[in-house]
Formats: sequence, C-alpha cells, structure tokens
Amino acid sequence: MGPPVQLMAMALSLRARCVFLGGPGAGKGTQARRVAGAASLVHISTGDMLRQEIATGTALGAKAKPFMDLGKLVPDEILIGMVNERIQKPDAKSAWILDGFPRTLPQAEALDRSLSVANALSHVIYFAVPEQVLFGRLTGRRTCSKCGAIWHVETNPTRKPNVCDVCGGATVQRADDHPDKIAKRLEEYRTLTAPLLTYYRERKVLREIDANRSPDVIYQELLKLMQ
Ligand code: AMP
Repeated sequence: MGPPVQLMAMALSLRARCVFLGGPGAGKGTQARRVAGAASLVHISTGDMLRQEIATGTALGAKAKPFMDLGKLVPDEILIGMVNERIQKPDAKSAWILDGFPRTLPQAEALDRSLSVANALSHVIYFAVPEQVLFGRLTGRRTCSKCGAIWHVETNPTRKPNVCDVCGGATVQRADDHPDKIAKRLEEYRTLTAPLLTYYRERKVLREIDANRSPDVIYQELLKLMQ
C-alpha cells in the first residue's frame, strides 16, 4: 500500500508548478480546487480571474467579455499580461496550479520565458476526456455563485436543487455552458489548445490522466502522478 493521500498532498506543496491541460469540462477546475486545498498550493484559474474582472467592471473585463460571450479565446496579450502579474505575487512565488492557462502556443512560449530554469514547470497534466463526454458535462454543469464549487445536475447533484451543499450559495449555469457556446469552445480547444500536447510532450513534462472516471479516482491518481 502507498503512503496516505494526505501525506502525498502535503509533499507537493513546496515545489509543484503545474499546468492542468484539457478541454472545457475535463475536470481541471474541480481537481485543481481539491489538490490546491489539500496541498496549500495557489490555484490560478484564468477563467475565474476573467469572470471576476467582468463582475467588478474593470477595463480588462470589458475587453475580455465579448470574446467569452462568443465562446472564443480571449487574445493572448491580455492573458499573458494577467498571468505574468499573478505569478509574481508573493503567494505564488514557488508553488501553484495553472488551470486554463496556457491555451495557445504563444501563451505556452510566454510562460516558459517568464519562468527561470530553477523555477520551471514541474508538471503538465493532460486530462483526457472524449469530446462527446465533455459536451454532456458542460450542459449539466452548475457552479456555485458564492464559493465556486462545481456540480452536475445528473452526476454530482446538490442535495437541494440550485443550492450549494458547501456554502448554501445559489448554483447557476455559466453563460458559456449553454449548448450554442459549447460547440465554439470545443472548436477553439481542438484548433488552438490541443497542439500544446505536442509542445509539452516534446519537452518531456506531459503526464496524461484518464479523466473519464469518477472525481475521487482521478484525484488519487493525480496525487501519485504529481509526486
Ligand atoms: P474556463 O473557465 O477556463 O472554461 O474559461 C472560460 C473562458 O475564459 C474561455 O472560454 C475563454 O473565453 C476565456 N479564457 C480563460 N482562459 C483563457 C486563456 N488561457 N486564453 C484565452 N482565453 C481564456
């Protein structure tokens, strides 16, 4: 038997600088929240950061919104500047999980340039899920408007409809989780993000996880992969 899950999670906390890669709905956010919570890593979700910019009415949010509303990727220069700034903050000096970034080759190259050799990426985890499964996950996904917990109407429902089990907040369907937007997001993934698999495979940092399984099974395997 291997070491207990809690010990494996704690062992990650000092040195992990990870990218979670995969299509929309692959489970990156769910797992990043869980690993980050257990291992005291900083969870940096670019989608959450952009939604926050929009919610607080910033200039960056205003620039990003039209792209997000169409299910398209936001331009690289916006994302690169935002992430560079975020990973310079004191809490992110050594260990973090990037969830949703990079999503294009120019973003991946910019990330490499901004990390010193001593500070290079330790893991890139690819969450492999067939596209038709992603579609079903996204249409049924609900997100807590208060704490960000992620639910699914069929596979992971809240006890009370539309009420988050964790904090009691209202669960909502993200605007871009509507079927018409999902097709565009999957196309953006296929054409712009999937080439990153080759980029990281060539750099020998890519680890693949079969993410078409239950969140608990994926979590256990993820901690082992990240050791
Ligand atoms: P997510 O919550 O990760 O699914 O991201 C939601 C939306 O935010 C995406 O569909 C994009 O419009 C935008 N977005 C998030 N991360 C990136 C990124 N790295 N590059 C470009 N757009 C992004």
